[in-house]
Amino acid sequence: MIDLVHDYLTSNDRNAINAYITEKSNKNAVDVINHTTNCISDVFGSNHCYLVNSGSAALHTALCALNIGSGDEVVTTTHTCVAILNAIRYMNATPVLCDITYSPSNMNYNIDISSIEDNISHRTKAIIIPHMFGVGVELNNLKYLNIPIIEDITLSFGAKFKKGDLLGTMGDITISSFHRSKMISADVGGLVIINNTNYVANVSRILDYDGNLCMDTPPSYNYGMGEINAQLLKSQLAQLTDFIKMRNDNATFYRRKLSNRFDIITPNIESDEIYFRYIIELPPHITSSQVVANGLEYNIQFGRGVYPALHNILKLDHSLFPMSEKAQRRTVTLPVYPGLTKVQLEYITSSLVDIIGG
Ligand SMILES: *Cc1c(COP(=O)(O)O)cnc(C)c1O
Repeated sequence: MIDLVHDYLTSNDRNAINAYITEKSNKNAVDVINHTTNCISDVFGSNHCYLVNSGSAALHTALCALNIGSGDEVVTTTHTCVAILNAIRYMNATPVLCDITYSPSNMNYNIDISSIEDNISHRTKAIIIPHMFGVGVELNNLKYLNIPIIEDITLSFGAKFKKGDLLGTMGDITISSFHRSKMISADVGGLVIINNTNYVANVSRILDYDGNLCMDTPPSYNYGMGEINAQLLKSQLAQLTDFIKMRNDNATFYRRKLSNRFDIITPNIESDEIYFRYIIELPPHITSSQVVANGLEYNIQFGRGVYPALHNILKLDHSLFPMSEKAQRRTVTLPVYPGLTKVQLEYITSSLVDIIGG
C-alpha cells in the first residue's frame, strides 16, 4: 500500500538517535532539549520557543495562555484538523467556524479572511489560523481586529508570507505539530512560539508542571517533549530544505504527467510555499469518495484534503460552508512526501488516470 502520508527518516536521523543513546549509555549528561530549542529559535528569530509533546498540547497551552474561559468564542476555519476543535473544547469555549477560499489552481483552501469579521462578537477571545497544506494566510489583513491570533504552522512549516517572513512570525502565539505525519517528525511532538511577549509568563507557568506550586493560578501540565523526540527533531529540522525540495520535485513530476489532462486542475503554488499536500480538482463526472474508494483497489491511499470538516463533526448546516463542502467533494490529495520513488509516482499517476477514465 502507498500511504497518503509518511515520515521520511534518513541515515542522518539514525546517526543522531544512535549518538544520543551512546551518550546516555556512557552516563553523560545531554542537553538535547536546549540544543533543539535553540535551533528552532534561530529559525524563527524568537527567544520564546517551547518544545512540547504534541500539536494538541501546543494548542491547549496557547489557549490557556490567552485565559480562554467557558463561554468565550474562538474563531477558526471549518476546513482543518479536529485537534483545533478539541483544544477549543478543552477550554469549554465555543468554536465559531468560517468557510474557506476554494482555489484549486493555487491550492488555497485556507480560511476565507473576508468572512472573519462577520463571525466576531464581544465574546471572541482568539482567532486560530492554520495555514493549510503549505499555503499561507496573509495575517496583516487581520491585525485591525485587535483579537489575539494563534498561528498553526503544522502543515506549512518552513513556508513564507508574501513579504518573505516565515509563517509563524506574525501571530501572537504560534504552534506546530511534529507528529510523524507532518512536515518534519519528532515521532510525536509540538512547538509553542510566543511572538507577543505579554504571554511569556503564562506559557512558562503552564509548562512548568513541577515548579508551579501556586494554588491561585490555573494548574500546569506535563507537556514537555521527550529527549529522543527532540534529538530526532533537531536532525529532521536540518533536512527541512531538502524535504521541501523533494516535495516540490514530486509535484513537478505530477504536473508534467497530468499536463495533457485539461479536465483535471493541478496546483501551481508560489516558490516559497510548500507542497505539504498535492491537491487536484477532479473532472465533474467523478467524486473524491469514488477516487478514494477505487484507489484502495490499486493499493494507493488517495485522500480528501480535509474530511470530515469541523462543521460536519459539529453537525452544522452544510449550506453555510459551501466551499469546504465543494473541496471535500471535488478534490483529492495525492501522496507527495519525500521518499516516494519515480516508479511509485508513475504508478500513482497512471492509476489515477485509470480510475478517472476518459
Ligand atoms: C495534526 C495537526 C494538529 C495536531 O497535532 P498533534 O501533534 O497530532 O496533536 C494541529 N493542527 C493541525 C493543522 C494539524 O494538522
